[in-house]
Amino acid sequence: MCGIIGFVGNPGSDQLRRILIGGLERMEYRGYDSAGMAWLEEDGCIRVVKTQGKVADLDRALNGIPVKGCVGIAHTRWATHGPPSDINAHPHTDQPNRMAQIALVHNGIIDNASVLRERLRQEGREFVSETDTEVLAVLIGKFLEHGDDLVTAIQRTHALVKGAYAIVVLLKRGTGQLVAACHGSPLVVGVGEGCTFVASDRLAFVGTAKKTLFLEDDEMVILTADSYDHRTLANQQVERELVELRISLDAIAKGGQKHFMLKEILEQPTVITNTLTGRVIDGPEPRVHLGGLRTKIEIGGRSMTIGDFLQNHLERVVITACGTSWHAGLIGERMLEALLGLPVKVVYASEFITGFTPINNRTLVITISQSGETKDTIEAARKAKRQGAIVWNISNVVGSTLSRVADSGVYLHVGPEIGVASTKAFTAQIVALALFTLKLVELRNPAWVTDTRRQEIANALLALPAQMERVVADAKHARDIAFQFACRSRWLCRCFKYLAQSRTPRSVSWLMRLIGASNALYLGRGYNFHAALEGALKLKEISYVHADGYAAGEMKHGSIALIDKRMPVVVIVPEKGEDEETYARVISNIEEVAARKGRVILIASEGDSNPEELRCGGKVERILWIPKTLAMLTPVLASIHLQLLAYHIAEMRGCPIDQPRNLAKSVTVE
Ligand code: GLU
Repeated sequence: MCGIIGFVGNPGSDQLRRILIGGLERMEYRGYDSAGMAWLEEDGCIRVVKTQGKVADLDRALNGIPVKGCVGIAHTRWATHGPPSDINAHPHTDQPNRMAQIALVHNGIIDNASVLRERLRQEGREFVSETDTEVLAVLIGKFLEHGDDLVTAIQRTHALVKGAYAIVVLLKRGTGQLVAACHGSPLVVGVGEGCTFVASDRLAFVGTAKKTLFLEDDEMVILTADSYDHRTLANQQVERELVELRISLDAIAKGGQKHFMLKEILEQPTVITNTLTGRVIDGPEPRVHLGGLRTKIEIGGRSMTIGDFLQNHLERVVITACGTSWHAGLIGERMLEALLGLPVKVVYASEFITGFTPINNRTLVITISQSGETKDTIEAARKAKRQGAIVWNISNVVGSTLSRVADSGVYLHVGPEIGVASTKAFTAQIVALALFTLKLVELRNPAWVTDTRRQEIANALLALPAQMERVVADAKHARDIAFQFACRSRWLCRCFKYLAQSRTPRSVSWLMRLIGASNALYLGRGYNFHAALEGALKLKEISYVHADGYAAGEMKHGSIALIDKRMPVVVIVPEKGEDEETYARVISNIEEVAARKGRVILIASEGDSNPEELRCGGKVERILWIPKTLAMLTPVLASIHLQLLAYHIAEMRGCPIDQPRNLAKSVTVE
């Protein structure tokens, strides 16, 4: 994780600070336990300012310090080696204070740091921090002392270290240059007018840089204000075209909302349209258009398109992902199995890397990652390719590492997701998986999927944006009620927690009761089981309330023991008409919870569901409604309520919603 940025240009007075702090703010989703900045002062010496805390703390620490210069680097940290502290914050230098020859920021993990540190200590070199990063700084410094230039020093350091890194290095008395290199961690170059950038994410330079370029593994770049020299770490020149940076400043602003998470929840109806646009061709025989299927691949010496492969060669699908994307994968598994009868296995990427999942050149491995930079998922994709599988990637960031490692794939096009808890990317991932499943149905034509069924699925997909709009409109109402409480929440929340622990008055709303709860259960069957897993994860991530998702039928095998009058239980009920049997079973599960005095909150489908039956004789506290859709798409609509529920609870508990403790958005370490 960690966000790193480097800038070279001719900014006006004090602009360097604004540029670097602005870049860090936009990458703060990547880590926020400490932050730091280094720049070249007029005398050619390196000045470092760093602090434990957030980017705002760094900005405060810079007050009164003139940040004048043309070259600078900065970092927002998510600690892996050494706790968050002023000393462990980046940039790190090869020697203390003004003796430093270089300052360096790093994203990644150096696996052999302790061995190298010991060796360097024996040579008489000193370390001040507990980080693995400092080893890189000291090694580069050592090679500079031996007479190497900075590029050679970095290349020699690369030959010695094991692990993953993206680094940006600032050289004392450097002539307006920065050198950046990467191996296993992302780096992207930005080119503006009279300035260049390098950063972990393009968001860092949106609005200033016009063109960008992703570095591949084992590449480096030497930046000056108006040029960049791109080469491999083995010193081969690289010619790669710059691509236009098409992200607007609006897309990375909060759009008037208090948190990115809320903005991203509320914009789902609009952005999901982008995921669908041009991909479902309506008509008597609906067709799905996925451009990535035209990509050519080689199987056993034969050249074919991915479309041909899916139609004629595919035998098995493995889906691999982490966290929220893994939940989307589970939903995809169910769709593919139900509609295609294909054997599908879903594996955590971290388990895929080390475990044994049988795959061969008739296996399609689907990787899912919002950022396309999730380290475990990238490693899983690489392993799958080594084993001969075809890799299809689903991610949101065009040009991301995963999209380059995979054979082909589909982009979500939902715009930057900045809130650490994934929301719009999750619903879009489900839609992308549904599109892919429908395309596979079209290609393989399974006898049990009638044309009418295909039409139904296509229609249900196309109806989603309007249906999501209705859920959001309803949720806004719920939000307003919740905000009324939130206005008084500082003391009310504390007071409420106390009441909830002792005796909650009947008059306190169901939502306020949930704020005081320290545990929650989420239940569902079928597709909604996976939505329940995601709902529980959302609550845990941002509100620090412990929550578990279960298959509703599994509850009686263990978790039912937890249910008492303090336990909120969120149940996602399927629509009655499509599957009456599952509906009846879920109603029984609700009765079982209510009989043990659990506090039931339902998410239920309009349509054939009978509100009276659902209320279970008044034992259900609250029902949040979603429009009727197909079972396979219910999680898309239900998730909006689940996300808002988690959001409002976290908000009322006073939690830092966009920056939950210990988390970072794109997990670029293993
Ligand atoms: N390993 C470095 C540290 O702990 C960087 C961490 C990261 O990139 O997540 O400071």
